[in-house]
Amino acid sequence: MSEQNPFKIAQWQFDEAAEILGLDAGTRAFLREPMRELVVTIPVRMDDGNIKVFKGYRIQYNDSRGPCKGGLRWHPDETIDTVRALAAWMTWKTSVVDIPLGGGKGGVTCNPKEMSLNEQERLARGYIRAVGRILGEKTDVPAPDVYTTPQIMAWMMDEYSVLRGHNEPGVITGKPLALGGSAGRDDATARGGIYVTREAAKVLGIDLQKGTAAVQGYGNAGQFAHKLAHEILGLTVVAVSDSKGGIYNANGLNFEATLQYKQETGSVIGMPGTTPISNESLLESEVTVLFPAALENIITDKNAGNIKAKISTELANGPTTPEADKILYENGVFVIPDFLANAGGVTVSYFEQVQNSYGYYWPLETVHVRLDEKMTHAFQAVHQMAQTKKVHNRLAAYLVAVGRVVESSKLRGWI
Ligand code: NAD
Repeated sequence: MSEQNPFKIAQWQFDEAAEILGLDAGTRAFLREPMRELVVTIPVRMDDGNIKVFKGYRIQYNDSRGPCKGGLRWHPDETIDTVRALAAWMTWKTSVVDIPLGGGKGGVTCNPKEMSLNEQERLARGYIRAVGRILGEKTDVPAPDVYTTPQIMAWMMDEYSVLRGHNEPGVITGKPLALGGSAGRDDATARGGIYVTREAAKVLGIDLQKGTAAVQGYGNAGQFAHKLAHEILGLTVVAVSDSKGGIYNANGLNFEATLQYKQETGSVIGMPGTTPISNESLLESEVTVLFPAALENIITDKNAGNIKAKISTELANGPTTPEADKILYENGVFVIPDFLANAGGVTVSYFEQVQNSYGYYWPLETVHVRLDEKMTHAFQAVHQMAQTKKVHNRLAAYLVAVGRVVESSKLRGWI
C-alpha cells in the first residue's frame, strides 16, 4: 500500500488490529469512522481591510471513554482527512495512556507564518465563534498542535468565556500559566517521549549515556526533545533540522546555543560550528535514537531500509507509513509509535483539565512524577502485548488501545 492519505493509513492500521482482536463487522464499521464532524468557513478581516475566508474543522472521533480531546493545527496543507486521522490517533492515544478522555482534533487551513498577530487573533476568535457550540469542558477540549501556541489558546479560551458569560479555563489546554495552564505542559510531549525512550533502552540493554540522537523538526516537540534527551538520558544530540534544512556536529549540538540561533534567525541552518545536513540524510544518520518531530509520512518504503537508528521515538504524528513499519520491524529498529511516544502532551493536558476543574494547581515535580508513571505503565502494557502477540510495537499499541475503546463502547451499549 503506497498510500499517503493519513486517514486511509489510520483506517488501515485500525483494520489490522481489528482483525487480530476478532472484532465483529458492526464494531469495525463504527470505530473506523469519526462519530461527528463540523466543517466551517471563518471570515477574517485582514490588516489590509479585505475579508479572507478560512476553512476550519473540528472532528470528534470517539467519546466513549470521556470528553473528546485533541489539538488544533494551523497549516497550509491541512485537509479534512488529516484532521480525521489525527482525531483517530487521539482516540487511541488517550486510551493507550489510560486517561478518561476520548479523541478529537481540529484545524484551520492557513499559513500563520504569513499572518500578523492581529490577524491570528481574529482567526482564533472566529474559529471559536464558529466551532464553540460543540466545545466544552465536558464535551470536547482542544489544545495546541503544529503552528498554534499558548497565546492562541489564550485568545480562544477568552472568546469562549465571553460567549458563555463566565470564565471557562477548562475548555482549552496548553494555556499560558497565568491563565490556568499547567506547570510542565510546555515540554510534556517531548518529556513523555524521553521517558518511554528510557524504558525502551532498558528492555534493549542499550546504554544511552554513550549514545547519540538526531531530531527532525525544531518546534515545541523537537526543541524540548533536544534539551531533555541530553539532560535526562545523557544522549549527545548530533543533528537537528527544521523545514528549511538541518545541521550536524559529531561532538554534539549545544541546546541553548541552537535554540538562540533558531530564535534569532528563524531557522537552525547556518549555525556556526556545524555542517549542513538535509532532512533526508538526517533520518538516515548513524545514531542511537531518532526523534521524528515534524510531520506525517517522512519514513516510507523508500528510506526505511536506510534507517540506522536503534530506536525511533515518534514525537510527530504519523511519520511512518505501514510499508515502512514492516521494513523497520524486520531490520530490528525499535519503533516507539506516535500515539504512545507523544502521549505526554495529552497526559499533561488532562492534568491541566483536572487542575482547572478544582481550581488548585500542582507543583512541577508532581506533574513530572505523575507523567512518568502514566508513560511507563503505557510503555509496559504495549511492550508486553508486542511480546505476547509477536507483533511490532505500533500494532501492539493498537491492540491495547482499540481493545479499551471497544470495551467502553460496548458497555455503553453503542455496539
Ligand atoms: P511546531 O509547530 O512547534 O513545530 C513544527 C516544526 O517542524 C517546525 O520547526 C518546522 O520548521 C518543522 N517542519 C515542518 N515541516 C518540516 C519538514 N518537512 N522537515 C523538517 N522539519 C519540518 O509543532 P509541534 O507542536 O512541535 O508538532 C510537531 C509534531 O508533533 C506534529 O506531528 C504534532 O502533531 C506532534 N505532536 C505535538 C504535540 C504538542 O504538544 N505540541 C503533541 C503530540 C504530537
